[in-house]
Amino acid sequence: MLRYVNLYCNTACDSRCTTCNFWRMKPRHRLDPNVLEGIATSRFADEETWFALQGGEFTLHPRAGEILDLFAGRSFVLFSNLLNPPRVIALVKKHGVKHVTVSLDGGREGYARIRGVDAFDRVTAGIVELQQHAEVAVGITLTPWSRYDDYAEAADFCRANDVPFGVNIYTDSRIYEATQQPGEIPFLPRVVEETGDRFCAAYLRWRAGTLDLGCRSIRSVASISPDGDVHLCHNQDVILGNINDMRFDEIWGSEETARTHAAFATCNACWTSCYRMHDLPPDAS
Ligand code: SF4
Ligand code: SF4
Repeated sequence: MLRYVNLYCNTACDSRCTTCNFWRMKPRHRLDPNVLEGIATSRFADEETWFALQGGEFTLHPRAGEILDLFAGRSFVLFSNLLNPPRVIALVKKHGVKHVTVSLDGGREGYARIRGVDAFDRVTAGIVELQQHAEVAVGITLTPWSRYDDYAEAADFCRANDVPFGVNIYTDSRIYEATQQPGEIPFLPRVVEETGDRFCAAYLRWRAGTLDLGCRSIRSVASISPDGDVHLCHNQDVILGNINDMRFDEIWGSEETARTHAAFATCNACWTSCYRMHDLPPDAS
């Protein structure tokens, strides 16, 4: 069964992040709600399945409201850059969205440097307002070109405003067409010490070559890009099928998909959070 489904619904984005190239992609793509219906009703989804509704910037999808309504009976998180708080808050209120995750990769200067738009004040004011309408969490992505102060200033904002936050690590995602290589994050041990974050601690071991963990998460995590491709994962150039050509359940339940999952069962090639978090044993530190 599926535990987590990344739905990248559209390429359009009003941010200019250094971690992702959705905003540069041409031609632009977006998923049609009629096609997404097959995922919202998938026989591989149950009450433990979480859907991550993402873009680009999801709220720029011209039919974002219809997609939110499709997933109304499911557990889902809306991911947003919150560069346009009124647009996001209007959708959240109208469609009863319960959970929103916002990216905040630095303080005032660091946000502009990493995310390419000078909008820390706008986004943080939007988070505070959005908290009145939904449960808001913040994701802080650490990159080899981040500084400790970027993390600290974003985390300080969250602590001061009672916003739960999670730390993520940059990955060279094929889906985002990311071009920069992952690398050493010199201040990461300090973040691990301060937060006790298991995923970041394991990244240190994985990068050092002392953590060889097979990949079972590909069997329970699905990632679909705006052109409809169902990817094996973020970091392999393997496509399981396309939901514009075939129903999702036919792709996910096929013998070919089972063979591909088996072939990558011992892969240890990435440390991409939406997959590898599910591979980490609960008692790992
Ligand atoms: S990381 Fe998100 S907000 Fe930034 S450019 Fe990519 S899709 Fe847009
Ligand atoms: S470990 Fe390998 S198969 Fe698993 S998500 Fe990473 S690249 Fe994909």
